[in-house]
Amino acid sequence: NTVQELMELDKKHFLHPTSPISQQQENGASFIFTEGQGIYLTEMNGQKLIDGMSSLWNVNIGHGREELGEVAAAQMKKLAFSSCFATFSNEPAIRLAAKLAEIAPGNLSATFFTSGGSEANDTAYKLARHYWILKGQPNRQKIISRTKSYHGVSMGATSATGLKPFRDFNTSIAPDFHYAENFSTDSLLEVIEREGADTIAAFIAEPVQGAGGVHIAPEGYFKAVRRICDEHGILFITDEVITGFGRTGTYFGIEHYDVVPDMMCFAKGVTSGYAQLGGVMISETLHNEFAELSKGTLLHGYTYSGHPMACAVALKNLEIIEKENLIANSKQMGEVLLEGFKKLQQQHDIIGEVRTLGLIGAIEVVKDKQTNERFESPIVPQLVSEAAKRGLIFRSVVFDGQDTLVFAPPLVITPSEIDEMVNILDETFTAVGKNLVK
Ligand code: PLP
Repeated sequence: NTVQELMELDKKHFLHPTSPISQQQENGASFIFTEGQGIYLTEMNGQKLIDGMSSLWNVNIGHGREELGEVAAAQMKKLAFSSCFATFSNEPAIRLAAKLAEIAPGNLSATFFTSGGSEANDTAYKLARHYWILKGQPNRQKIISRTKSYHGVSMGATSATGLKPFRDFNTSIAPDFHYAENFSTDSLLEVIEREGADTIAAFIAEPVQGAGGVHIAPEGYFKAVRRICDEHGILFITDEVITGFGRTGTYFGIEHYDVVPDMMCFAKGVTSGYAQLGGVMISETLHNEFAELSKGTLLHGYTYSGHPMACAVALKNLEIIEKENLIANSKQMGEVLLEGFKKLQQQHDIIGEVRTLGLIGAIEVVKDKQTNERFESPIVPQLVSEAAKRGLIFRSVVFDGQDTLVFAPPLVITPSEIDEMVNILDETFTAVGKNLVK
């Protein structure tokens, strides 16, 4: 097919996730990608672009790693699929569960596998609620999350998502979800007081908020959260779907804050996007309590829980992350990226705060650096489209009056590739800045 033919078929038959439907139907896809290598993607017309988002914050080891293709093919030829229900198992899933126990913080030691992050979060809510039923406290069913959080799009995950537009997409969400203000332990305490601790199953938080605009927790916040959860008997769940597997310069994001959750959800970087996989880890304590209290069946499971090919790919991906020291690289390159952002901040009037933690970062766009006043309507969509013309992909965040650019390049990025990224950003800010009426 020619590019034009594919464009037409795409417009007519492909309903894209998180897409502007009318625009998509009228204009079609902006890029049809055909190849990837390292931090670069190539599209059908031949343009090469830096994937400044690791696609969906997930291609941690970069594109085009043949080793993963080889592992996937070998596993598919040997055993593409078998069930993990009840007492059936397979070797890659067992090995991966054991590997995760080795690298996870604290005593997180057992994994329930899913196909992605939304399913992982729904699983965590169901396990938390079931736990309290087993403990003889069936009223503890509420899940508390935070106002700028994103946890996915299945019913439970959407309901826990603090970003209101996602919840308002439908007129009703699942019951028993409540929201504390971002990073406010006072607000968390207010919600606990208002709802009653004995009605709350769990609190869930992303160690660094991704889709909400890359918000990094203030010093002491997560320590206080852990203490509050303990004092009120509430389970603490971290959503490491973005922050896991080196993204923030540690294996898991929560390690920056020196606390250990009771459950930890993951997906994305576990396979660097080379296969669909997610999961929830639970602590050894919870695992033992489940075993002791539950005489029935764990009535929760996905066909693809523990998929052998996906687990084999994950094992190889983790091997590469470790062998190539990509977690240390994420930390170091995050600092280089921050230096680049600071340089841009000095050169461009409309750049406010900049921040990174490992290779996740943000640039705030402001009308006035002194007051942090925003433009009447967000500028970032223009910056995104101008940067794409110049060969760089990243994302804009405009929720809640934000005017923010977010970045999450592959962990294999080098200093010269960061320079290339920063140079394109420089040109982009210059081009967009020229046309702004202040
Ligand atoms: N949790 C977080 C923090 C995420 O960023 C995402 C996806 O971006 C999800 C959960 C949902 O994961 P998935 O899209 O794999 O269902």
